Amino acid sequence: MTEGFSGVDQSKPSIARVYDYLLGGKDNYEVDRVIGDKFTRDLPGSVAIAHANRQNLVRAVRELALAGIEQFIDMGSGLPTADNVHQVAQRHIPDARVVYIDNDPIVLAHGRALLEESQHTRVIQADVRDPHRIREHPDTIDLIDFDRPVAVIHSAILHHINDDEGPRSLVDYWQQQVPSDSYFFISHFRSGGNPETAEAEAVLQATFGRGRWRTDQEIRDLFGDLEILEPGIVPSSLWRPEVTETAEGLTRIGPAERDLTVWERLIVGGLARKP
Ligand code: SAM
Repeated sequence: MTEGFSGVDQSKPSIARVYDYLLGGKDNYEVDRVIGDKFTRDLPGSVAIAHANRQNLVRAVRELALAGIEQFIDMGSGLPTADNVHQVAQRHIPDARVVYIDNDPIVLAHGRALLEESQHTRVIQADVRDPHRIREHPDTIDLIDFDRPVAVIHSAILHHINDDEGPRSLVDYWQQQVPSDSYFFISHFRSGGNPETAEAEAVLQATFGRGRWRTDQEIRDLFGDLEILEPGIVPSSLWRPEVTETAEGLTRIGPAERDLTVWERLIVGGLARKP
């Protein structure tokens, strides 16, 4: 094993670093770029999927902050990128609190400097499959008040959790920890019954040894009894597309006005409220 700093294995591709590469980031190694290039060659929509997902997350966090949500837990947060959850939230609520969780040591190594730029932000290296450890971590206890609404984010992470690891039970666990009027954002790869989807799933499984695309009903089931908000669980590009102000008033712009590519239909997002 080739180890860099902080136990980072540079000999194997990592989900976090390949995703960073697809988003145009710099925190990746040759082994990740080879896989990223393979993705973009064999699955030409990979970059569009990564951006569609990320922009969906940014829009959801902005809307949550505008709704007054001050606390966020971001599961499988990934490497720092252009608009991190705390930056988006703190634009509207300067002392919004954000706990980032990722099991990849590179997120801790590269993330701390940027992600912990404010005293209201922490990065915890932990496995989302062990939610109790995250809940009881001193940084979580320090930053998050579980008597007040929390936004729990599972953005492009639950399709890395196999069925026998209970992805639904992870969301359920957090539903039980937070009070009413808390929010849950989930984005997820979707099985579309087309050759592109099957190929993308096969490539991910071959590369990382895991990856489980789910049907629309299976993704819906992850939300359990939560109240799913408008516009429902939809392709990420269609989730409340950007709004622009014109002489005529506010207008939705963006992909909603054209047909999505087969790739853009592979990733869906949804926001739900705990009643
Ligand atoms: N959430 C970010 C987003 O949507 O832009 C990053 C998504 S990236 C595709 C998936 C992230 O989940 C990676 O950073 C990876 O290291 C992390 N991850 C995968 N399995 C995990 C696990 N079991 N526990 C914690 N993090 C995990």
